[in-house]
This record gives sequence, structure tokens and C-alpha cells, in this order.
Amino acid sequence: MRAPDEPADVAAAVAEASRIAVMSGAGISTESGIPDFRGPEGLWTKNPGSERLSSLQAYRDDPEVRLRSWQARLAHPVWDARPNAAHRAIVALEEAGRLHAILTQNIDGLHQRAGSNPSLVLELHGSMFDTVCLSCGDRRPMREALDRVEAGEADPPCLVCGGILKSATISFGQSLDMDVLNRAREAAVTCDLMLVAGSSLAVHPAAGLVGLAARAGAPVVICNGSETPYDGLAAYVLRDRLGKVLPELVRGS
Ligand code: ZN
Repeated sequence: MRAPDEPADVAAAVAEASRIAVMSGAGISTESGIPDFRGPEGLWTKNPGSERLSSLQAYRDDPEVRLRSWQARLAHPVWDARPNAAHRAIVALEEAGRLHAILTQNIDGLHQRAGSNPSLVLELHGSMFDTVCLSCGDRRPMREALDRVEAGEADPPCLVCGGILKSATISFGQSLDMDVLNRAREAAVTCDLMLVAGSSLAVHPAAGLVGLAARAGAPVVICNGSETPYDGLAAYVLRDRLGKVLPELVRGS
């Protein structure tokens, strides 16, 4: 495993960049109380069966999976979560005029709630804050569907066509939104530094954006609690807690 770099050295490199693309993953939101997937306390580490809830085919085919999914959405910590110091550090980068884009694998909306400009946030895996109909594509606020569940509809159907409703997130077996992915690729090849914040870079094509940035010549900084497959091509690697280290990196600028 590669030895971590000195935060002061990394802060100096970040200070030289003026078009920073941030790639954020579940690790940036754990300090906001939202568990990640593959970390030591991760959802899939502790309960491998829950990964099945994220498969589109299971969701379509199995009413039981949908009932459990609605209950899981109701109880999800995201509704009460607050952005943390790491999200706010990225807002500070934007205020300094040095943020190019946020490419996020998260569906928790915490970047926007921290104050990041929504037009700079590319949600590669969608958002929990909307529902989408799997038949007609009708899109509405998640809150409306959750209110229906609380009122007794265990699996609320689409109000337009009666189809199956799902959160507007990308499940296993579902392709990414091509428009979002293309904008993310464009940001990756035009940034002058790629800052990875709390992603194990295990999921493609999102993770591949880091390789794209590196090949286009941008130094890559990886801040993640554990090793990633991209550590070898990173200019710098940090293992510190994100709520501590990201404000330090930004302050140095
Ligand atoms: Zn519909």
C-alpha cells in the first residue's frame, strides 16, 4: 500500500489549480451520518443481501423487494442529514472561483444543501429526491411518494400510468444518464486537477473519469480512507478524515 503524502504538500498543489474537478463518493457523507457501502461499517459489508435491493431486475420482478425498498427509503438517514465540513470546503472552492465541477456518485443531495451551485453538481448515480416511473418516465418529488407510503400505499404506483415507481437513482443493471456522463467526461478532460473525495473508485464508469483526467494531464489527488485501484496514477494520496483534511487543502489556497 502506498504511503500517504503530507497534507501541506497536497495543499500547495491544490493552491496552484484553478479548474478543480471534485469526484465525491460515499466517504464524504459518512460524517453526515449516511453509511457507505463497502467501508468497515458499510451497508453491503454488514448485510450483503441488501445489495439485491439495488438491482433493477429484482425491483421490477419482485413486489417484496419494492415493499422493502419503500420502507428503506422512508427510514433513510438522508432526510435528516446535514452537510459536513468536507461539503462546505467544496463550496469554499467554488466561492474562490476555482471549482470546475463536482462529479458525485452520491444520491444524497448534500452538495446542493451545503450551498454548491446545482448546475455544477453532476449526479452520476441520480438522486434520491425524485421518483421516476419505470414505464412512462414521469418524474416527481420523492416526498410525494413517501407521503403516500405513510398514508398506507405500500407500493405507490405512477399517478399517470399506473407503472412502477422507483427513486431516480441508478440501480445495478441500469445505464447511467448519457447526458450527465458526457458532461462529466468533458469536465474530467478539461479540469486542471482532479480531487477524489471519499470514493473507493470501485464502480465504473464513474471511477474511469479519474483515469480520463489523469490521461488528459491533470494531477489526481485521492483522499479516501482505504486504498483505491487508482492510487498508482495519483499525484498525491491522503488517508485522513475528509471533514478534517478537505478544509485544510482549501485553506492552503
Ligand atoms: Zn408512469
